[in-house]
This record gives sequence, C-alpha cells and structure tokens, in this order.
Amino acid sequence: MAFLIVSIFPKLFVIELLFFLMGKILGIIGGGQLGMMLTEAANNMKSEISNVIVLDPTKNCPASKVGAEQIVADFKDATAITDLAKKCDIITYEIESGDSQVLKSLEEVCEINPSPETLEIIQDKLVQKKFLAKNNIQVAEFSEILSKEQIESKISEFGLPVLLKTRTGAYDGRGNFKITSLGQIPEALEVFKGQSLMIEKFVDFKMEVSVIASRSTSGEIRTYPLVENIHEDNILKMTIAPARINETISKNAEEIAHKTMEVLHGAGVFGIEMFVTNDDQVLINEIAPRVHNSGHHTLQSSKTSQFEQHLRAILGLELGSTELVYNTIMYNILGPRDFTGIYKSPSIDLENTFLKMYGKLESKPQRKIGHVNLVDKDNLGTEKLLEIINTVSDSIKIIPA
Ligand code: AMP
Repeated sequence: MAFLIVSIFPKLFVIELLFFLMGKILGIIGGGQLGMMLTEAANNMKSEISNVIVLDPTKNCPASKVGAEQIVADFKDATAITDLAKKCDIITYEIESGDSQVLKSLEEVCEINPSPETLEIIQDKLVQKKFLAKNNIQVAEFSEILSKEQIESKISEFGLPVLLKTRTGAYDGRGNFKITSLGQIPEALEVFKGQSLMIEKFVDFKMEVSVIASRSTSGEIRTYPLVENIHEDNILKMTIAPARINETISKNAEEIAHKTMEVLHGAGVFGIEMFVTNDDQVLINEIAPRVHNSGHHTLQSSKTSQFEQHLRAILGLELGSTELVYNTIMYNILGPRDFTGIYKSPSIDLENTFLKMYGKLESKPQRKIGHVNLVDKDNLGTEKLLEIINTVSDSIKIIPA
C-alpha cells in the first residue's frame, strides 16, 4: 500500500501526509509571543505535532502568524475551550488565566498539561504560597487579608514595608501595592476594592533570580541553570544567564526548583521566580505554569530551548539537555510609555545578536513586543555584554512608523 502511495504521489507529499497521520494536534490557550515560540518549536517537531490550534481573543495573534490555526475567543470562554478540546489531542497554555474549572471538566475529552489541578494551585497566589510552605519550600512570610484590622496586625508582626497583593489575575506587578506607612492602608484597600487579597513581608533581596524547570509526563525532571533577572517598574528588563552569584547559591536555587517540581506533579516547563536575600537565603516569589520570559535566552544559549522542552515534557518524550552552552543576556523590547500605534520594526546587524520580534501590529505602553539575545560566543564576559546591550538598546528603540 505504502509503495502504491509513494508511486502515485510525490515523496515530499507522502512524508507530510505520514507526519500528519502520526502527529498529535496541539491546542494552546493563548497565542501571544509565548504561544508563537511554542508554535515555532512545534513546527520543528512535525512527526510529533501535526498541527497547532491556539485560542486567543486578538485576531491575527502572534502564534497565528507562524502557522497556528486560531480560534478567536476569550481565554475564559467555556464554549471556545470545549471546541478547542474537541479538536485537539493535547492542550497546554501560555498564560495562567485559563478557566481551571472548565479545563477540569474537559480532562476526559483531551489530555491537558500542566494539569488543571496544578493550574488551580498556581492561579491563586495565596493557595500557591500555602502549598509551598506546606511542602517546606521557603517563601516570604505571608497571610490572607480579609479586613483593614488584619493588615494593621500583620504590619505590627512583619514590620514596614509590606506588600499587599491581589490573589488572582495579576501580572507584571500590577496587583501589588507597597505599603510603607499605616496611613496608606485605606488607599491600598481602595485600589484593590472587591478583590481577594494577601499580604507579604517585604523581602530585602540582593538579587531576583529564576529557574526554568521542566517535568515530563513520565516524571523526569530537569532544570536549567539559575539566571538573574533585572526588573524596571515590575517588568522584566533583562535576564543574565547564568546569574552572577556564587555556585552554592545557584545549586541551592536549582535544588529548590527541583523539589518544587517533585511536589507540584505538573508536566511541562515552569518558570520559578525567586529572591536571593542579603543573607543568601533563597525564597520562591512565584511560579508560572508555563514557558517564561526569563527562559527566552535558551533559544540561542542552550542545547534545548525552553519551548522545545515544554513540548517534549507534555508529550512524554525524553527531556532535552539543559546545558547552557553560551553565557547570554536577554533584553526585552518594550513599547514606549508615550506612544500607542503602528511602529517601525527595528533591526540589528551585530555579530552574536539575535533579534526576535513578536509580530504585534501595534506598540502599546510597556508592552513586550520583542527581545534580543546577546550571546557570548567570544567569551567577552558578562560586564562587556552589559556594555554592548546598553548601546544595542538605543538601536532597538521603538519609534512610530
Ligand atoms: P509579583 O507580581 O508578585 O511577582 O511581583 C512583582 C515584583 O514585585 C517582583 O519581581 C519583585 O520585584 C517585587 N516583589 C514581589 N513580592 C515581593 C516581596 N515579598 N518583597 C519584595 N519585593 C517583592
């Protein structure tokens, strides 16, 4: 039969047909830049993944531009998620705000990884922190907040400043209010009116770091080396791989990430953000159940990109090597604060510098629209790379078209 097919149809067509029949259909909730880079990784794994369908509310989302089919609907649209589950063999996500209850109800229809149970734990910062503390994984001191009096009482326990946080739906620091005096409490409560809240002791950290960790459906766990994250206004500005910190701390952080993956039971790549305190303790700040901005360097720095690793993990394939081959700095390209609109796509012609734009039509204030990886193939050292990034950052400024 195969002989007959090959003799009638051109060879390339037959190979594509076989891939299509053998591969799984992957659904992704969210089709932004992370969904786009997952789709690109899937495009290179045609024998395992024949097709990608993303669910995203923005027409022509970044993932659709690199070949994913798109269902245009809200991330929480139950009918659309059900439709996606019926069309796919396996569902994953690039955002953590999918409806975990709807996903739970679809587990019989379609494989879902990370599991909706894991998603549910992570979606609520208070539940996440309780889960970590229960498993003896260190986090900043925290408490649920139901009243103004509880905030006062926790301030007297933790001391000032503290961070009042919304438990769900916040990202890039948008759900955080730093309280530096008792007088600010009414304002903080007003800002977060109607939302469920928690409070955290303010960590006096010397560095923010993260580990990209992966766990496959078969239980294999691999972590990437610790990286250093520099934020500006709560948004990741750059990631330095590896972190400029001593090896004992790096190993400790990687072990904490490994332990977290053991207790979480989720399959896929997870971004685990941590603080290194002034007395060298490592505390988890938060976990993202998905590929993570601080893992973008792996596209050029590592043997396996975090995007391929995620797909390997959810498909139950052997995980790839997480070795960091080249020290690398990843620099985020953000939309300028004072401009919304169509922009001129930047370009860079510099050795060992890899520009990745996300295909977003419009620039919006502080919106992530691309990134640059500066790869240290010539062993220049991190300080020199930082100097180069400073000059590169001028040439990738976003300007109106
Ligand atoms: P989050 O949205 O909770 O990840 O927080 C965003 C940023 O706020 C983090 O990257 C930290 O810079 C800062 N942050 C969050 N929690 C704390 C904390 N307990 N102490 C000090 N800084 C914090």
